[in-house]
Amino acid sequence: MFKLSRYYSVASFIAILAVIIVLSLYYRANAVESLMEHQTRTNVSLAQAFANSVWSKYKAFVHQASAIAPSELPDRNEIKQLQADIRAQMTGLNVVKVKIYNLDGLTVFSTDPSQIGADKSSNSGFLKARAGKVASSITFRNEFYAFEKVIIDRNLVTSYIPIFRQSDDTVGAVFELYSDVTELIDELERTTWHVVSGVALALLILYAVLTAIVIRADNIIRSQEDKRKASEAKVRHQAYHDPLTGLPNRASFCERLDEAIKRGHRTGKSVGVMFLDLDRFKIVNDSLGHDAGDQLLKVVAKRVQAVARETDMLFRMGGDEFTIILEDLRYAEDSARVAKRVIDSVSQLARLDQHEVTVTVSIGIAIYPKDASDVEDLVRGADAAMYRAKQAGRNTFAAYTEDLNVRAIERFTLESELQHALRNNEFVLHYQPKVSLPGNGAIIGMEALLRWEHPRLGLLPPDQFLTILEDTGLILSVGEWVLRTACRQNHAWQAQGLLHTRVSVNVSAPQFRDRSLVSIVHDVLEETGLEAKFLELELTESLLIENTQEAIAIMDELKNIGVFLSIDDFGSGYSSLNYLNRFPVDLLKIDQTFIKHMLTDRKDAEITHAIADLAHALNLGLVAEGVENNEQLTFLRAHGCDEAQGFLFSHPLPVEEFQRLLIEGKLQTTAELALADTRDLTAEA
Ligand code: C2E
Ligand code: MG
Ligand code: MG
Repeated sequence: MFKLSRYYSVASFIAILAVIIVLSLYYRANAVESLMEHQTRTNVSLAQAFANSVWSKYKAFVHQASAIAPSELPDRNEIKQLQADIRAQMTGLNVVKVKIYNLDGLTVFSTDPSQIGADKSSNSGFLKARAGKVASSITFRNEFYAFEKVIIDRNLVTSYIPIFRQSDDTVGAVFELYSDVTELIDELERTTWHVVSGVALALLILYAVLTAIVIRADNIIRSQEDKRKASEAKVRHQAYHDPLTGLPNRASFCERLDEAIKRGHRTGKSVGVMFLDLDRFKIVNDSLGHDAGDQLLKVVAKRVQAVARETDMLFRMGGDEFTIILEDLRYAEDSARVAKRVIDSVSQLARLDQHEVTVTVSIGIAIYPKDASDVEDLVRGADAAMYRAKQAGRNTFAAYTEDLNVRAIERFTLESELQHALRNNEFVLHYQPKVSLPGNGAIIGMEALLRWEHPRLGLLPPDQFLTILEDTGLILSVGEWVLRTACRQNHAWQAQGLLHTRVSVNVSAPQFRDRSLVSIVHDVLEETGLEAKFLELELTESLLIENTQEAIAIMDELKNIGVFLSIDDFGSGYSSLNYLNRFPVDLLKIDQTFIKHMLTDRKDAEITHAIADLAHALNLGLVAEGVENNEQLTFLRAHGCDEAQGFLFSHPLPVEEFQRLLIEGKLQTTAELALADTRDLTAEA
């Protein structure tokens, strides 16, 4: 902000300083000038008086002096007489030296005898005086020869004065008089100082008074400005907020939604808009009074805020209407999850001051960019959906488009069914063998893969329910069950002498981030009796990228237990090679998509090749999954792949079938045959 007092004080201080300096210089110059004029007049009168009294005696001598040899001049009687006359006339005055020149510029006389005979014909003062004018100047001398003695540090006024002949009024000779004005100059300096300091003091007092006034004015202006800003902020807040709940209001909603849509457009993510309308709020208001109604609205606002995600924005549009903007939606169904939570929390019993009431809410949802591409259409869509929810019997939500409704309902149903699946023993594990390529098809491991035997929908693969398990946190208990079941099964098969190999178990992100993973693995091994070297944990690449330091620490602990670690779906994430070096893992499982396309896509072939080189360079085992045909197998063998897994050898199998094939030795035979085929292919090539 512009600070008036600062600018004023600096500017006026500089101005005052300038005035004082100019004034003092001007005053002094003027005073010196008038001092010199005064002294010149005195010198002229003295010269004139001297000329009047004794000049007639000497004028002939002075006139003819040029004819006398300069060296003889000082010894002439006239000179001695002149010296005596001048001394007699000038004693007691401030005259310190007298010189007399004839018209030729010859120094005929000087009170300093050493200067007699000197030529002054070209001196400007002399020339001016010979032309009939007085010439004066003031000078400072450190050392000066005056009337037979030396004087020190003096200010002198020197005047060249013409002496006129009485006969024809022409110049007959030139006098030069030196007067000592040191005392006068000192006096003048003192008065200058007094005058200037007097003026300076007056100006400074004026300056102080004016500055004080300006500072005060400045403060008044500033405080008025602050008040204006505060009241503007207040007005703005009032304009954008609802006074009852403190939530942002309709005006704010439109602005924010517009911004969110623009962001969504940039990031490519969906934005959800939710319209909330309380069911039968009017009845509460009419029967219990407005105070109770207001209290209820506040309770609802708090509850909705509490269950919304951190990034969701809640608004009160007026009356019993609220809206929520949901940004960064991964799946449109996520909006339905929020709606469900809102419905559940709003419908809880609300305790007001004197009453207990239950109120429900109907919600409409529209999604950018699926349902509409601008604020107006999106709002209209959410509003229409809200009316559908009301028609559907209230206390529910409806989406603008039907498919979202269907998917959301499916998801909710699965979600609630998953809650009981573990208890109802609906999960099973299928096992898929891994074969050794250098070992000519020997079974060297198996992967445990989760399946859900759904009572209605039949056997479901993990991609249909794994994200729900992860989102709801159920993966922790289900994951532990998988680990325990796989270890127990492997131990049992080993006890029966059916195999002597590792079992691998997939670990998902929430399990890995859960602090108890290490102790669970430890306990499960102890409980099932399986040796640590027979357990392999498959960690996906993405899981290791976030919080790498911590991931390395957890992996170190797992390695200490003695289990195998592999990176699953390697190449699909973005792990830095820098870190890869520091992960204490044993195997890389190259992502199946590379295997799938490597025979048709040069790039995928090159990546597969590069990953194989990388694994060898880092001394890691290389596993290929999703191997479906002999050509892929040939390629992988050629690149030094250690283990392979895929439909070529076996699909993932239920326990009984896997066990049957183990007993019959068929798994082994299939794998060996497949490898024999590749050997043939290689031979043919
Ligand atoms: P994954 O760990 O990469 O498992 C390999 C997937 O590829 C399995 O799918 C398997 O059935 C499939 N597969 C095996 N051979 C072939 C083949 O030759 N061709 C093709 N096209 N596919 C093949 P699945 O069983 O559907 O599992 C999918 C993903 O679900 C797994 O990928 C894994 O990430 C996850 N998953 C499975 N079980 C569990 C579990 O118990 N816990 C956790 N956290 N995740 C699991
Ligand atoms: Mg896996
Ligand atoms: Mg995989």
